[in-house]
This record gives sequence, structure tokens and C-alpha cells, in this order.
Amino acid sequence: MACGVLPMACSSVAATLRLMTRTTPSLRGRHRVVVAGGGVAGLETVLALSRLAPGLVDVELVAPEHHFWYRPLAVAEPFDAGRVVRFELAALAAEVGATYTPGELVGVRTDERVAELAHGADVPYDSLVLAAGAVPEEAVDGALTFRGPADTERFRGLLDEIEKAGHGTLAFIHPGGTGWPLPLYELALMTAAELAERAPDVRVRLVTREAAPLELFGGAASDAVRDLLVQRRIEISTGLYASSWANGTVETAPDGPVEATWAVALPTLRGPDLAGVPRGRGGFVPTDRHGRVHGLEAVYAAGDLTAFPIKQGGLAAQQADAVAESIAAEAGARIDPRPFEPVLRGLLLTGGVPAYLRAELGGGRGETSLVANEALWWPPGKIVGRELAPFLARVAGIEPLAPLEAPGVVAIEIPLETEPVAA
Ligand SMILES: Cc1cc2nc3c(=O)[nH]c(=O)nc-3n(C[C@H](O)[C@H](O)[C@H](O)COP(=O)(O)OP(=O)(O)OC[C@H]3O[C@@H](n4cnc5c(N)ncnc54)[C@H](O)[C@@H]3O)c2cc1C
Repeated sequence: MACGVLPMACSSVAATLRLMTRTTPSLRGRHRVVVAGGGVAGLETVLALSRLAPGLVDVELVAPEHHFWYRPLAVAEPFDAGRVVRFELAALAAEVGATYTPGELVGVRTDERVAELAHGADVPYDSLVLAAGAVPEEAVDGALTFRGPADTERFRGLLDEIEKAGHGTLAFIHPGGTGWPLPLYELALMTAAELAERAPDVRVRLVTREAAPLELFGGAASDAVRDLLVQRRIEISTGLYASSWANGTVETAPDGPVEATWAVALPTLRGPDLAGVPRGRGGFVPTDRHGRVHGLEAVYAAGDLTAFPIKQGGLAAQQADAVAESIAAEAGARIDPRPFEPVLRGLLLTGGVPAYLRAELGGGRGETSLVANEALWWPPGKIVGRELAPFLARVAGIEPLAPLEAPGVVAIEIPLETEPVAA
């Protein structure tokens, strides 16, 4: 607004904005940290800061949704093998001396160190952490897009429809674009196990743009997953980019149509639109290895909204740990902040024997890929966060997913390149 033209209007708008501005600067001289996002990255940041910089920081968690959702078990819900759980953010934040404010970040004014929330409220900060996650979008027209908890009932309905039909082909599609593929493999494996009982004449097919199943976990893990798919009689079509499903056909490039009576696809992800924040390819926020947002002073980012191409909870937590260490040092903690050195860990629900997959992708040390049917990390949860996993086990009662000797889980762990090629 041009204040030279409408000085009265401007002064009243300014006064209103001043009133709406939540001026609660740290009265105790502490470093004021605002964390925008109450998911994996946001909570891990809050927890790490409370441990690394006690008494040095005031932490405020801002998110529009009042709950933290533990999403990984969304894939188990349609089979009654697990349940998505959610927890009050206010209670989780209070547990470690942070506060929770309901609100949606819409932009940043770095010159004033102010985070702008929807409806005009401003929140001042010394350090701001962007942890607002990514936005899922339909990638395959016509297919059932499985985004997580919101789609478990639709998927359950599809299983009922398939059982009634008794024959046909169900395709699980990992499309082009950015996303986390593991849930699709879990759905395919668990569905094949379920349909073997409920509708044995229905064929299950996996259509993926990858050159090999779960290729980002490396050779050994990928081979193990391929063996599992074959054991479950799942047909595998690799190197195919699916664009749409209609009339019993999935359109793919470069091979053209693939038969499928029903189709379930992962979404593709894009970064959120935040005024004043740089966006790279796909709308994702570019950062350095300490999580500092390119070109913005005192603004950090962690998790799915960053430009790091693999969107996974464990990696989001590792990014958050790097961010928390940098901010703790800034706030005066005696700590030498370590950069993000990604290690990918995946716990694959199979509907049979579980698998732990681990891959190290970083620091030019070369790839190591491990796969096992016993825990490669502890606690052996689905989202591996240094702070978050034990915290959820202690406070929220999320226990290790399954006894290690129980069937139904595969765990994978890999160190990643810090600058992997775009997915
Ligand atoms: C079905 C499914 C299964 C998965 N399984 C696994 C698994 O087994 N292991 C694993 O490691 N990962 C898994 N993932 C991926 C994992 O859930 C994500 O990578 C992880 O949640 C990303 O964390 P995040 O904090 O960046 O974003 P999110 O966890 O998505 O959290 C984003 C937060 O930001 C808030 N928010 C949104 N917009 C704003 C805004 N404008 N201002 C402020 N706050 C905002 C949201 O309310 C939310 O609190 C799975 C994902 C899905 C969908």
C-alpha cells in the first residue's frame, strides 16, 4: 500500500498490525526460535534445541494443524495391521518447555526478523526454522492417489471392490516427480498377501519409474525387495513414467499402455509458497548443509520442503538435528555444529517377514547398502529421529513397531550423498 497517498489509512493499518503483532520478545535475554511446522522436522528441531541449549533458547512451535500425525502406519490401516496415531502439539511442546501457537506461516520479512502468519499476525524471531513440509499433488490422473491417513478408507473400499470383482489386475504406481516410494512397496506387498486369501485370481503389478525396486537403497537392499515382490507374485515393470489411468489402462512412457483394472499411485510433492523465501525446482527451498536457507539471514529449513531430493521422515529429522546444532551454537551453547550427513533407514512392512534397509549416501565414502530381518537401529521405529523416536516411545507410547523376531518388517539403512542427483 502507498502510504504517501493514504496516510490515515496507513497509520490505522499500521496500528492494527502492531496490535495483531505478537510482541513477545524473549524477556529473559534468550535466543528466540520460531519453528514453523509441527511434523517430523519441526518436532525434532524443538526436541534437539531443548537438549542442546537448555536455558538459552525460547522455542515457539507454529502450525495450522493442532496435532502431530504419525503417518507411517497409514499403509497398515486398511489391513487392520496398524493404526495411524496423532498427538496434541501443545502437550508435546510443553513436555520440553516450548510453546505451541496455532497458525499458518505465509511469509518472512528477514529485514525485521518477523514471521508472517495468515490473517495478519506477525511473530518476531532471532532464528526461524521452516519445517512446513511439502504439498502432495495427484501425479497419475484417474488413479487413487495414496497420500497417507486421508486415503486409508478409500483404499480399504477399493480392496472390498476388488474382492467382489474376483479377477482383474491392480497396479501400484510410483510416478515421476518427487516423493517417498517405500509406502507404495508396503501397500503392494501387504495387498498381495491379503488378496492371496480374499481374491486369489487378482494379479498385482508394480509400475515404477525406478530402474530397480527401491533403487535408492542400493544393490543388496533392492535385490532383497525384488525377491520379496517375486515371492508375492507381484509383476514388476521398471523404468516407466505413468501419467494417467482410464478404462483399464495405465498410460506410460516410453512403453505406452499397461493393463490395469484398478490403479493406486503415489502423489508427487511440491514445496510450499512462502513470501520472501527462495524456491528452487519443484518449489523446494534451497539450503546449505547446516540448513541455512540460501540468501536469508537467520532462516533455516529442514524436512520435505527443502531441496534435498529424498523426502523421508528419517532424513527430515537428520536435517533438523543439523539446524538445531547451528542455532544452539548461535544461542551460546558450546557446540561445534555438524552438517547434515544423510543416512537412509527404511523399515519395510511386508505383510510377512519384516526387513530393515540401511544405506549411507554421503561424504564420498561410497555407498554401503545393508538389509536385515533384525533391527539395524534402536528404537527400531518407522521414522528414525535421534530425538523424536525415543521421545515418542517415552511420551506418546509409540513402541517399536513389532518384535524383532516378528514377521512383517524389512529394515534398510544407507548413507546418502549430500548432493544427490535430483530424483
Ligand atoms: C503414507 C506415508 C508413509 C510414510 N512412511 C514413512 C516411514 O516409514 N519412514 C519415514 O521416515 N518417512 C515416512 N514417510 C515420509 C514422512 O512422513 C515425511 O518425509 C515427513 O513427515 C516429513 O517431515 P516434515 O516435518 O518435513 O513434514 P510433515 O511431517 O509433513 O509436517 C509438516 C508440518 O507443517 C505444518 N504446516 C503446513 N503448512 C504450514 C505453514 N504454512 N505454516 C506452518 N506450519 C505448516 C503441518 O501442519 C505439519 O505440522 C511417509 C509418508 C507417507 C505419506
